[in-house]
Amino acid sequence: MTHLKKERTLVVIKPDGIQRTLVGEIIQRYERIGLKLIAIKMLVPSEDHVDKHYNLDPEWKKNVGEKSIKGYIDKGLEPPSQDPMVIGDQVISVLKKYLSSGPVIAMVWQGAHAVKIVRKITGGTEPLSSDVGTIRGDYVLDSYQMSDKDGRAIRNLIHASGSAKEADDEIKHWFVEEELLDYNLVQDKILYDVNLDGLLE
Ligand code: ADP
Ligand code: MG
Repeated sequence: MTHLKKERTLVVIKPDGIQRTLVGEIIQRYERIGLKLIAIKMLVPSEDHVDKHYNLDPEWKKNVGEKSIKGYIDKGLEPPSQDPMVIGDQVISVLKKYLSSGPVIAMVWQGAHAVKIVRKITGGTEPLSSDVGTIRGDYVLDSYQMSDKDGRAIRNLIHASGSAKEADDEIKHWFVEEELLDYNLVQDKILYDVNLDGLLE
């Protein structure tokens, strides 16, 4: 098994993140915790690319539908449909429009527990209920209620892989192997070295 410090995750700064001029802020959050940026590019993804991205996991559509229904019920509101697949289809269709509307920045971050750490810093899907201190919680005010009323995707600045399996599939979907750079950072030593020898002159 590869060492935990080699775990990788995909992050995409969505078009609203670029338009809100939050690129530097977002990158800084992942950088300062000790993760290593090993690939980055700017592009305008096609609707087909986005469609494939969200269909890499055949369960995703149902899960996103269930999560949205729960979001409504938790707030004492009536969900627009009781069928998670119906909501899932709607979400994919609005996501295609959202993510292909302008430039995005795709990145791969590497480090211990990269998937979970990035999700923690990024915050929950719905900015209204994301924790304060997370990127989504600090920089956006969107909600399921508002995005559904307007028939659009919830704007939350970032995509971040939800599991190690999702990360593997998504990284392959956005990058070719040669674009993932293996290199040493000076700080790797203090984060991961077992003996910490050689610090003193
Ligand atoms: P996350 O991005 O937190 O992993 P999901 O994978 O569940 O969230 O959903 C993917 C994206 O779809 C979300 O980031 C959000 O932009 C959008 N989205 C999810 N649920 C809804 C919904 N009910 N209505 C509109 N957009 C949604
Ligand atoms: Mg997800």
